Amino acid sequence: MLNSSLQQLGSALRAGNISSVELTQLYLDRIAALNPTLNAYITTSAATSLAQARAADARLADGTAQTLTGIPIAQKDIFCAKGWRTTCGSKMLENFIAPYDAHVIAQFDNAGAVNLGKTNMDEFAMGSSNETSYFGAVKNPWDTARVPGGSSGGSACAVAARLCAAATGTDTGGSIRQPAALCGISGIKPTYGTVSRYGMIAFASSLDQAGPMARSAEDLALLLNTMTGFDERDSTSLQRDKEDYARDLNKPLAGLRVGLPKEFFAEGLSGDVGKAVETAIAEYKKLGASIVDISLPNSKLAVPVYYVLAPAEASSNLSRFDGVRYGYRAPDYTDLADMYEKSRAQGFGAEVKRRIMIGTYVLSHGYYDAYYLQAQKIRRLIAQDFTDAFKQCDIIIGPTSPSTAFKLGEKGDDPVQMYLSDIYTIAVNLAGLPGMSIPCGFGAPNNGNPGMPVGLQIIGNYFAEAQMLNAAHQYQRATDWHSLAPQVL
Ligand code: GLN
Repeated sequence: MLNSSLQQLGSALRAGNISSVELTQLYLDRIAALNPTLNAYITTSAATSLAQARAADARLADGTAQTLTGIPIAQKDIFCAKGWRTTCGSKMLENFIAPYDAHVIAQFDNAGAVNLGKTNMDEFAMGSSNETSYFGAVKNPWDTARVPGGSSGGSACAVAARLCAAATGTDTGGSIRQPAALCGISGIKPTYGTVSRYGMIAFASSLDQAGPMARSAEDLALLLNTMTGFDERDSTSLQRDKEDYARDLNKPLAGLRVGLPKEFFAEGLSGDVGKAVETAIAEYKKLGASIVDISLPNSKLAVPVYYVLAPAEASSNLSRFDGVRYGYRAPDYTDLADMYEKSRAQGFGAEVKRRIMIGTYVLSHGYYDAYYLQAQKIRRLIAQDFTDAFKQCDIIIGPTSPSTAFKLGEKGDDPVQMYLSDIYTIAVNLAGLPGMSIPCGFGAPNNGNPGMPVGLQIIGNYFAEAQMLNAAHQYQRATDWHSLAPQVL
């Protein structure tokens, strides 16, 4: 059961070979056994999950079941889920019980999926290693001395360690793709505006986008079918016809033009990641794709641009955590200003404070033109690079992250090194394009440890998710990296 695809699980449930209650209990037992070590979940509620499973079993029995009915899904703790503690990985929201459902949560509920629990994440989704979580770091299930990536590290770990059938994540600068790469799973960030941000705690609203994390591209397509759709409660939600993301999975790849950006294979890419990606490119050629050399000349500016724009938006979004309306309030204070200051000083961790300070600075009078405005202009150029590139190719392929999973604590003192984990993913968010990561091999073994997973990034044009999933699925039919599981403990 643990290695079955979502399609297979759905069939087993509908055929009555297993009940949703049994399946949910199987995962709850695994979580009880493994979560103390892996720390993938912040909150579980067996009673709530099992009640949903019973309701799903009733739907399965009366014939109203849909594709995902009865399937246990882990939800990143950035999504408000009614009655569930929703922390966003922060002390600020340690005791916050969400009074309503995020659109994503409601979509899964309507589909009859079971919410298995809320997964650990970097505080307010700021991080690339899950080490900024107030609830402690998540461990990589392939080597528990290493990070799972971030910020959706809890979801990536839970999928890789078979602590859920699939999970959700969010990606502002790489937070679905980078942890998917580091944990050896598949994840997709769709085109900006495709999944509603309603009820998803805001980090940088012009970049934030939710997406699924799973064991295969085929599973991602089914999850995306559930998560997407217009929602009038998010002003950036796109009004488009519903599409079936699985419709092109089985198309042959003959004639597909695959672009390789030269900037993604330059200095900074570790040799073992480069080698695995080269092997994947050779596989694409075997599958009939033609390789086109392309250039994204402004992509080298993506990290600096992002670290102006994302903190600017975050400093505004996080002003709502003031100790008054909800969240943490300092126990002792002298007056209102002191209460705000102490609540925010005590409620936020160091990385979040750093972002708020940078963001406030770049937006301040006198610096706005020099930083924020310049960054917006370069953002436009970065997007234009992709528009030009997609005249020559259908999809773009390269590494997801410059290295495999690093050791816990290794980059803790050096924020710039940490930020560089996302050099290949961030430009995609700045352009609003869809991007995904699939496993494509393992890095070099070191110190007697086996090599860690390598992720292959696939970038598509706006709304090209079905085509990207096709490219990923054909690769996964030809290779078996995606079906390998870590030997957990
Ligand atoms: N690692 C990046 C950051 O720290 C991206 C995070 C994300 O995508 N949420 O901001």
